Amino acid sequence: MLNMALFGPPGAGKGTQSEKLIAKYGLFHISTGDMLRKEIASGSDLGKKIDEVISAGHLVSDELIMSIIRKTLAENPHEKGILFDGFPRNLSQAALLEDLFDELHLPFFGILSLDVPREELLARIVNRGKTSHRNDDNETVFEERLKEYEEKTLPVARYFEKKGKYHVVSGTGTLDEIFERLVHLIEKK
Ligand code: AMP
Repeated sequence: MLNMALFGPPGAGKGTQSEKLIAKYGLFHISTGDMLRKEIASGSDLGKKIDEVISAGHLVSDELIMSIIRKTLAENPHEKGILFDGFPRNLSQAALLEDLFDELHLPFFGILSLDVPREELLARIVNRGKTSHRNDDNETVFEERLKEYEEKTLPVARYFEKKGKYHVVSGTGTLDEIFERLVHLIEKK
């Protein structure tokens, strides 16, 4: 069973590489960002609150994220493994993830991080914004998202690094080159 999380700043390519990893290893995909956007699209009151938080470039509450994850795992088959995309986003989520895996008696491979220079991240986000119709894919919100990433999410990298569960590859080059690096990392273990 291969349980892992794809990690990196906004625009690093987590969504794209997730799709390729899922296809290759038959993993169950949990993208917290996609799930939150689905709730927004439903037009619910909860969705409206989530929209405000996301549009400001901030993080939604850990309680909401954990309840989404628990519910999704309970309702879906995931024998081959789970690929988290956009989770864990802060230290408390990292600890909650470990607790959850302990509770389910499942192994956790670790986090795979995509390293991309800041200028390229911004260019990718602005470009993606032309077609994604996401309120947060623009230069102003990008700065806030990057700040949240640096302050809250980067400590997660150090947390797993100390446990030997942090693996980083370069996230620049062609999609296939980046994918090859990830596969190499997974299979050399
Ligand atoms: P993403 O699609 O992963 O870039 O996420 C888009 C936005 O959804 C983020 O900027 C956050 O506002 C929110 N979000 C996604 N995942 C999480 C998470 N694990 N914890 C808190 N907020 C999240």
